[in-house]
Amino acid sequence: MAITPLMPVYPRSEVRPVRGEGVYLYGEGGEKYLDFASGIAVNLLGHGHPHLTKALQEQAATLLHVGNLYGSPQGEKFAQRLVDLTFADTVFFTNSGAEAVECAIKTARRYHHVKGQPHKHTLITFSNAFHGRTLGTISATDQAKMRDGFEPLLPGFVVVPFDDLAAALAAIDQNTAGFLVEPVQGEGGVRPASKEFMVGLRMACDERDLMLVLDEVQCGVARSGTLYAHEQYGIVPDIMASAKGIGGGFPMGACLATEKAAAGMVVGTHGSTYGGNPFAMAAGQAVFDIVANDEFLARVRSMGDRLRAALEQMIPNHDALFDSVRGMGLMLGIKMKTDSRAFVGYLRTKGILTVAAGDNVVRVLPPLTLEEAHIAEFVEGLSAAAADYDVPEAA
Ligand SMILES: *Cc1c(COP(=O)(O)O)cnc(C)c1O
Repeated sequence: MAITPLMPVYPRSEVRPVRGEGVYLYGEGGEKYLDFASGIAVNLLGHGHPHLTKALQEQAATLLHVGNLYGSPQGEKFAQRLVDLTFADTVFFTNSGAEAVECAIKTARRYHHVKGQPHKHTLITFSNAFHGRTLGTISATDQAKMRDGFEPLLPGFVVVPFDDLAAALAAIDQNTAGFLVEPVQGEGGVRPASKEFMVGLRMACDERDLMLVLDEVQCGVARSGTLYAHEQYGIVPDIMASAKGIGGGFPMGACLATEKAAAGMVVGTHGSTYGGNPFAMAAGQAVFDIVANDEFLARVRSMGDRLRAALEQMIPNHDALFDSVRGMGLMLGIKMKTDSRAFVGYLRTKGILTVAAGDNVVRVLPPLTLEEAHIAEFVEGLSAAAADYDVPEAA
């Protein structure tokens, strides 16, 4: 048999972590890695954070799962916390980012359906977007590598260039339900949308009664330096998907919505066996205990500024390799003049973990709890690796 027991859909690297401590991961043979990938923006509190660990241990011993047949004191409490802290009036808990986006898409469609306008079913989405790997969420991107061979995909999506307000507005027709957009594209290459773009989408939604659906699965939950990235644009969505960092490493997500936007989401319209179970709620609460306060968020912004400044200072020393730094808070991207995937692989051999993204970007996604010494360690390691790096011949 040639196929591996783990379905071979990932190009897994040689790094084989078995233990983590703070911002470090340790491999099977004891190799030490500086983890500036955070499981792709998930481990906001690093590895083995005492508050999260204790909360999970206690909840595991108390109650893991009961299903959504019963009242949920744990779910009500965490949903209320999200409602208090955000634009939202109501929350549906999921187990992943893609499911949170699915719920957001369904909520937007149902809004128009119950308003007696079922023809308004199309979401305008954006080039190089990433919304997950379900059939619905791959239908919402134009990335061929995710779509090829999975047709027929879901109708009801129109893709226009990212950050191009004129194109987005021109795509509106009588079937438009709204927009689905990442305020900061993650997989697409750490690209923050411009303020004019986000404000323009909001205004168009207000004028035409459309749904502004944000995918903050990667940029949300303190990563950008505010609890959610849209706060920095001075706008609010109608519906928003959150996941990745929200459980600090426990798989969970959430679809948040205003009361108006959730008008169609009545009994029987949606569900999830695991979604919002007591264990997941304990994870979410523990993460929010740490990140959802002004001091922590201010620290994310100042650490982000320091890291960015240090990277910008380093770039001129390696200007054949690096072009620029972009992003928000501790969601940073180094735009390279060469293949970022190969360089990310080289960094791994030097004990530094980052994540490649589209547009030849190296994603820098440290745990939000990092210390200044880790920034210095990262930038020194990156600079030394850049000095030693032989750019591979173009294939
Ligand atoms: C990771 C990601 C998703 C999908 O999340 P999963 O938990 O992998 O399903 C959706 N949207 C964005 C912006 C992401 O970064």
